[in-house]
Amino acid sequence: MKVTDMMGAAKLAGRAAGEKLRGFGKTRSKVANPLNIPADETEHETWQAEDRYDFDVIVVGAGIAGSVCATELAREGYEVLLVDRGTEPGAKNLSGGVLYSRVMESVFPNFAAEAPVERVIVRNELLFLNNDSALGIDAWDSRLAEPANAVSVLRARLDPWLAEQAEAAGATVMAGIRIDKLVLSEKVPGQVIGIKAGDDVLTARIVVAADGANAFLARQAGLRRDPKLHEQALGIKSVIRLPEQTLRDRFRIAGNEGAAYAVVGEATGGLPGGGFIYTNRESVSIGVVVRLDSLKASGLASSDIHDRFLAHPAIAPLIEGGELLEYGCHLVNEGGKAMIDGLVGPGLVSIGDAAGFTLNTGFTIRGMDLAAGSAIVAARAVRHALIVENYSRNQLRVYTNELRKSWVGQDMETYAGAPDFFDSELLFARLGPLVSDVFRRLHAHDGTPRRHIGTVAREALAASGVHMTELAKLGYKALRSL
Ligand SMILES: Cc1cc2nc3c(=O)[nH]c(=O)nc-3n(C[C@H](O)[C@H](O)[C@H](O)COP(=O)(O)OP(=O)(O)OC[C@H]3O[C@@H](n4cnc5c(N)ncnc54)[C@H](O)[C@@H]3O)c2cc1C
Repeated sequence: MKVTDMMGAAKLAGRAAGEKLRGFGKTRSKVANPLNIPADETEHETWQAEDRYDFDVIVVGAGIAGSVCATELAREGYEVLLVDRGTEPGAKNLSGGVLYSRVMESVFPNFAAEAPVERVIVRNELLFLNNDSALGIDAWDSRLAEPANAVSVLRARLDPWLAEQAEAAGATVMAGIRIDKLVLSEKVPGQVIGIKAGDDVLTARIVVAADGANAFLARQAGLRRDPKLHEQALGIKSVIRLPEQTLRDRFRIAGNEGAAYAVVGEATGGLPGGGFIYTNRESVSIGVVVRLDSLKASGLASSDIHDRFLAHPAIAPLIEGGELLEYGCHLVNEGGKAMIDGLVGPGLVSIGDAAGFTLNTGFTIRGMDLAAGSAIVAARAVRHALIVENYSRNQLRVYTNELRKSWVGQDMETYAGAPDFFDSELLFARLGPLVSDVFRRLHAHDGTPRRHIGTVAREALAASGVHMTELAKLGYKALRSL
């Protein structure tokens, strides 16, 4: 992949930095209204373009959202700059690693076969972990393999590949540059017209903020408020190398099949959050995600929670003898729909984590597919704005409206109640031990007469201190939120 610096980027686009864009004013497309947007959504607040731009679109952040958006727009023939602070795209990225990949197939046909993915997930296990017991619900389903429903990925391998696709489509890729600021128009107050890194400035008709969970650019532009502590979590992850056959035996998978474990309860010492274990080709990604407010209140160090999870007697045998390859931590948005406020500003669009598109559904954290999904919708709206040469907030609201109708917006709506549901001490600290106690009583043969399962369950419930009404409320909330 060719990467370049700020001046080189402008030259690659066919001009010295600050010079007039060569293609400026050329007819982009014969399609006047590709999204069929009603006239009243496009006609207000028309904004006159600046005299000159270095690019049509600058995308900040070459994660999944940024690379997908840049690829889609570059394929349409627009001059796109994709810029990332990592020494190469993906260098600073960290994800648990299960990517629901059908959305990627819509951008990169044959994605699961051609992209550097690890394994196709066919075994999903939900594990309730207690101090001295574990209870799992194991779902193996070969139908999840064809077509691939979800794949495990390592971002250090996937992200450079994605940036290469953007480059192959015609985008200019710049790595190793941290963007410090948005650049605003002198003519139109508040209109974003570019980016600044150090003393270097590059301009564009539209800037796409795909800079991840910190949402630095969107916050700078006033699109997003600072997140509250309970709306963010910290993810701590290790990648541990294991021989391929060992991995297959321990996780009961064959060929390129993969397993994904979601672990609740003792994984996080009973704090809201969970543990995960995902199989890669010759390694496992394993770690915990803990909500920041409860982490702070607990006084525990996140690294200690991670280490305790890996050392738990039900988990340690899965990684025994493995070699630590990577260790890192990263913020995760946990606020769901409530975190999404503004998606667009004048000349600015935010996508992926930068826009707050992450969901904790209990079984998994989803962010990568939502990043790709929002990027696709945004690329269509940006294209429309470029065609009508209107980069105002009102014009770019096409993205917000289309997103609401898309599966991304609908999923955010469906799980809108999830953060509230997961704010439950019963779920994380008391439910696991209770269910496990029922099973222990069923399996323990201690010479006393056997009782029916209903009696056993009632005794375990009485011993746990959990009330039936609490369980009923939790069940009702689960049905409404998940
Ligand atoms: C521990 C953990 C486990 C997770 N597990 C899963 C999972 O299993 N499945 C799932 O779907 N999601 C998971 N997620 C969420 C998922 O990782 C994110 O939702 C996803 O990475 C968002 O993609 P993105 O492209 O929006 O942002 P990112 O992948 O964060 O990319 C942002 C990019 O912007 C760049 N950048 C940031 N600031 C600047 C700047 N100022 N200048 C230039 N470049 C900049 C960064 O270098 C980065 O490349 C997990 C997250 C964590 C932390």
